[in-house]
Amino acid sequence: MSDIIAENVVVTINYTLRNDAGEVLDTSEGDEPLTYLQGFGNIVPGLENALEGKRVGDKVTVAVTPEEGYGEKDPEGLQVVPRDAFPEGATIEIGDNFTAELDDDEFVTLWVVGVEGDEVHVDTNHPLAGVTLNFEVEIVELRAAHANELAHGHPHGRDGHAHHH
Ligand code: ZN
Repeated sequence: MSDIIAENVVVTINYTLRNDAGEVLDTSEGDEPLTYLQGFGNIVPGLENALEGKRVGDKVTVAVTPEEGYGEKDPEGLQVVPRDAFPEGATIEIGDNFTAELDDDEFVTLWVVGVEGDEVHVDTNHPLAGVTLNFEVEIVELRAAHANELAHGHPHGRDGHAHHH
């Protein structure tokens, strides 16, 4: 049985995320709760650490620093990319993200922050980089992960039977 949150446990939570100004950045309220696999970096490290050892029904309030969240903001992250560098016919909108391959076989995620004519302004910073993440979390459900979930490093839905590509 999985009574407490530990590595290899599939965790379902309700959560609300606010910035320091108290604005709601994201919430599961009015939506499906979030299901993730503990110990696999599915969620930011600061939240994963704060939830370790908790039980169903526990409520957790935690302020996650950028260092333990989406990182500090890199001022060098802003770049301008010609639109034709993107897949043909792709709709490109603010908030979208794309994966680009660097010269050395490494991949970087680019977030679209603006589109001006034939130029797309992208940022390597996650939109929440540099932001302190104030989470309020309630633990809804815990279960042991299935072998294929552990192999994939993520849960297959709350019940473990969701299919994906
Ligand atoms: Zn999978």
